[in-house]
Order: sequence, then C-alpha cells, then structure tokens
Amino acid sequence: MRSGFVAVAGRPNVGKSTLVNALCGDKVAITSRVPNTTRRRIFGVANGPDWQLVLADLPGFQRPMDALTEKMQETVDGSFEDVDVVLLVVSARDRIGAGDRFVARRVFSLGVPVIIAVNKIDRLKHGHVASQMKAAATLGDFHALHPVSALTKDGIGALRDDLVQLLPEGPRYFPLEQTTDLTTGSRIAEVVREKALHLTRDEVPHAITVEVDEIGDKVVRAFVLVETESQKGILVGKKGAMIREIGSRARPEVEKLLGHPVFLELVVKVRPKWRRDPKMLERLGL
Ligand code: GDP
Ligand code: MG
Repeated sequence: MRSGFVAVAGRPNVGKSTLVNALCGDKVAITSRVPNTTRRRIFGVANGPDWQLVLADLPGFQRPMDALTEKMQETVDGSFEDVDVVLLVVSARDRIGAGDRFVARRVFSLGVPVIIAVNKIDRLKHGHVASQMKAAATLGDFHALHPVSALTKDGIGALRDDLVQLLPEGPRYFPLEQTTDLTTGSRIAEVVREKALHLTRDEVPHAITVEVDEIGDKVVRAFVLVETESQKGILVGKKGAMIREIGSRARPEVEKLLGHPVFLELVVKVRPKWRRDPKMLERLGL
C-alpha cells in the first residue's frame, strides 16, 4: 500500500483547485476566475486499490494585503512541512513569469520530488504546447512534466499515476468514502460562496464570506457576510433577484452533498472588516 501527501502549489488562478477536483473525481474545492478563491488548505483524497493520494489544495502564492491574505500565506508555507511530493501548477495560457519562478524557488528548495503540471492546454493550439512545456522545464530540477487540462481531464490519469509512483509505503489516512477533510457545513458554505463569486466583480468577491447557520432536514440556512451596506445591496440585488440567483445555483449542489432536497435560505448581512478580525479568520479555519 502506497500513500502520502502532495502539496499543490502555484500562482493564483492557474487552476490548482480545478486540478485537485479532477484528480479526486469529486468537487472538493470551489473554483472561479477571482484570485484568492481558495482561502484555506483543503485536502482532496483520491483512492486506488492499493494507494491513497492526499492532495493539499492551497491558496496561491502572493504578497499579503491584509490579515486574511497574510493568514493565507502562512497556511501555504506551513503546508509544505511533511509533504512527500509537490505538484507545481503553471498555466499554459500565460507566459511563465516572475510569479511562477518565485513559487518554483520555494518548492524546489524543499528537497522532495516536484512534478510540474502545465494546465489549461485545452486553450492552446497544438504547436504551442511544446514551447510552453520547454519554458516550464526551466523552472527547476523536476521529476516529471505533464501537460494537462483540468477542465477536459486530458492528461489527468497519467499525472495521477506518476504522483502515486512517488508515494512512500503507508496506510490509508482517510476512509475510502471520504474525499475531503472539509465538513459538510464548510462544503455548503463554500458552494454558496462560489456562486456569489461567479456573479459579482471588482472588490465584492473578496469581501464575501459565508457561514452556515443551520442544516435541517428541510431547510438549510446560511449567512452571506459582506463588509459594507453597498456590498449588501449588490448581493441582495433588485427585489432580491441576486441572492435568489445565488441560491438557485447553489441548491442543486447542496442537495447533492446532503442527499435530499432542501430549501436553501440565504440571508445577507453586513459584518464590517471581518477580514481583519482574528476571530472570524479562526472560524474560517485559518
Ligand atoms: P486556482 O486559483 O489556481 O485554484 O484556480 P482555479 O482552479 O480556481 O481556476 C481558475 C480559473 O481557471 C477558473 O475559471 C477555472 O475554471 C479555470 N481553469 C482551471 N483549469 C482549467 C483548464 O484546464 N482549462 C481551462 N480552459 N480553464 C481552466
Ligand atoms: Mg484555488
């Protein structure tokens, strides 16, 4: 039996969370175009007959801007202790740049094998993949380099096989049926936040956090917290249209998580400066 931990590192937005979901075959992490969608470390688990791969999906590397992003970077740094392998993710759509090199320097200094995934190859014409692979190959002394698309699942099987090969002998850390360390409540909160992220822009997505208040047999109630009255106005929308839309997009996924139909009640509230409140950050698992 092989098992172990893989840290998934990279700049914001390169598709780390989408890739973790693809490798696990379950949506354990939410994804969006908004940088900083992933705020805490989330374990995603993939199982085979004689192996278990525990992937640590992480916030992207970035310069901290406030207490929230500072905590996020501490999380990233702390997550490199005791990993067996690092999966360094870069995007095929963008030039390999200073941000990627910054992450690469950090992960190649850890002394564990590094596999590089060049993600989003579905967005490239065939001839361009080779040159992007060449550029990624300059990042450091990697164990393997994989072109993949987390979206179309192209190359995912080969990447998973390679990761498994690098795992040491070990037990199953998570029971077979469990694909993540997040509680059902946290997963519901994240699904609601994802839909809110998809429907808002500018500074609003960064000001949103979600707390699940109650998970009942028939009703799930969650608070969508923002920092100002004007953000609340945006999230509620005209005659409640926006919050209704968030709810109707989130509900099918919430029902799938719970295994039965529910009424999803979303209440928008203002919680000034929650991003600077240590207590709030602790409640978010940071
Ligand atoms: P993270 O910040 O690195 O975790 O990135 P996410 O997983 O949240 O993805 C960022 C954006 O890139 C989202 O809009 C994803 O849908 C998109 N994305 C991720 N992987 C792929 C891919 O393989 N192909 C394409 N076209 N888009 C992708
Ligand atoms: Mg992410």
